Amino acid sequence: MSHEKDLASRRRFLKAAAGTAAVAVVAGSLPRFARAADLPHVSESDPTAKALGYVEDAGKSGNPKRKPGDVCSNCQFYSAGSGGYGPCQLFPGKSVNAKGWCVSHTPKA
Ligand code: SF4
Repeated sequence: MSHEKDLASRRRFLKAAAGTAAVAVVAGSLPRFARAADLPHVSESDPTAKALGYVEDAGKSGNPKRKPGDVCSNCQFYSAGSGGYGPCQLFPGKSVNAKGWCVSHTPKA
């Protein structure tokens, strides 16, 4: 009986968490620096990207260190660009996917 209640509240929590992540992605992808569009995109096969476990689609990261909702657009090393990509301080001269992720993700202050 109480087990079923636990399950129901957990489902509610997961739904709320998913909604929050979607809002963060939309807010983070608003273009601010048009120049960022010119920067080449970081490739997942780039040695630094591999070392940091960078993925273009955070949802596809199987890394246990990733917390739900963590994406490049809400990381303090990310600057909003355009077209869904923006510069990341860890990849100088390149841009990362706003919906991407790597192990160095640090929530914006
Ligand atoms: S440091 Fe942050 S912005 Fe840069 S790739 Fe990692 S998660 Fe994305």
